[in-house]
Amino acid sequence: MQLTVWTYEGPPHVGAMRIATAMKGVHYVLHAPQGDTYADLLFTMIERLPDRPPVTYTTFQARDLGSDTADLFRVAAREAYERFRPEVMIVGASCTAELLQDDPGGLAKALDLPIPVVPLELPSYQKKENWGASETFYRLTRATCERSGASGPPPRDGRRPRCNLLGPTALGFRHRDDVREITTLLAGIGVDVHVVAPLGATPSDLARLGEANFNVVLYPEIAATTARWLERTFGQKSTTTVPIGIGATRRFLAEVAELAGLDPAALPDQTASRLPWYARSVDSTYLTGKRAFVFGDATHALAAADIADHELGFEVVGLGTYSREFAREVRAAAQARGFEALITDDYLEVEARIAELQPEIVLGSQMERHIAKRFGLPCAVISGPTHVEDYPARYAPQMGWEGANVIFDTWVHPLTMGLEEHLLAMFREDREFSDEAGPSHLGAHAAAHPTPAASGEPVDGSPLWADEAEHELRKIPFFVRGKARRNTESFAAARGMTTITVETLYDAKAHYGR
Ligand code: SF4
Repeated sequence: MQLTVWTYEGPPHVGAMRIATAMKGVHYVLHAPQGDTYADLLFTMIERLPDRPPVTYTTFQARDLGSDTADLFRVAAREAYERFRPEVMIVGASCTAELLQDDPGGLAKALDLPIPVVPLELPSYQKKENWGASETFYRLTRATCERSGASGPPPRDGRRPRCNLLGPTALGFRHRDDVREITTLLAGIGVDVHVVAPLGATPSDLARLGEANFNVVLYPEIAATTARWLERTFGQKSTTTVPIGIGATRRFLAEVAELAGLDPAALPDQTASRLPWYARSVDSTYLTGKRAFVFGDATHALAAADIADHELGFEVVGLGTYSREFAREVRAAAQARGFEALITDDYLEVEARIAELQPEIVLGSQMERHIAKRFGLPCAVISGPTHVEDYPARYAPQMGWEGANVIFDTWVHPLTMGLEEHLLAMFREDREFSDEAGPSHLGAHAAAHPTPAASGEPVDGSPLWADEAEHELRKIPFFVRGKARRNTESFAAARGMTTITVETLYDAKAHYGR
């Protein structure tokens, strides 16, 4: 385990909280130290949910460690049952409480509560948040289906095919809106949604999952394990395409048609998104060939890379994920593009890769947004981990036709528009418009973009920049200027030059361009 300032995923019990908070009628009793209640803030402050998560913490303190911490758990579980009267209780331990070895599952069973109690074994030191969410969803589904004695889908009897939507959780990136978009999309081709889970579902709804004809896996990180169990148990097939982007939405609809027994040729041609036309219209002057770096959870990173390459005309120059469970898929996608994927949960490695690749746009999570901001690069958020602005008040899905519209807008707006670029070039020398003036939203007090060396000042014996050479250097776009400066200085130093002139700058350019 590594101490870090930022983390892509929380511990697995935060994943369990995402399932409990998404559902109704579930209560989570968590053996955890005082201080772990911080996780509530993710839901109330970041996602802005109006209620606290349905979690009771034992909140033991240092002074409790000498006494019976197991008894603290028993009392908390009994009181939580009396107060909240859930349909199902899940019990488990956070990282620190795991070390106490109090066995929450065994303790809760001994209480003999009149409701099902699902114990969670979440190895906090090996696994992370998405795995914890996936495991919790699977355990809950299995426990409720087995308890109800549910069987497979009943005969169709002339009714429309129906499917479950699996994977949306609390604290998910646009999950709420994706569910609405996909439900509408499916209704348009004659498929009904039977149960959406875990978001908005009760344990009784989970017990009905087996009645659907097939499953739609919206977020494999959360729902793939459960979908596999449902297939083994009820023979339900699952979709494998995540409908993010135009191409993926079309493939998804064809896949659904096949699973639903509909004629794919009879599907209405309903590409109801502006993305294809917008991307080919005036915007193409600044979309085509833009070098993009993509990083996020595997589902969103893979989808973003495909959209970037095939639907917006960007060139993906870097691709990676923090979802180690899906590293193979991301590696294959990177290899198909001729480079190695970056599989890491260390944001400093991601930062170093961005610095090395010098992309023109970063498509990532909130972490990459921070990194890109520091580098002065345009960035759009495509994946969790999320921040408060990723829960907009308006309807803003990522999936389906409307999702493609939202993606187009979100990715293109951080870029400099064609006309804007022209004006910036025209007024380059103007103090107010110069890119040395710093971001305009910070007003007149904004610091200029940091440059490795102040104008004209020699650093550690490196050659001195003549005024006109420094002036010429500033005409180079800021994201490659640092590299141009370093290359020119190395070029001059290697030749024993003490002053860099405009000529040296162009000689160096020719030298490194060979
Ligand atoms: S128990 Fe785990 S999540 Fe809670 S404070 Fe300690 S390290 Fe963080």
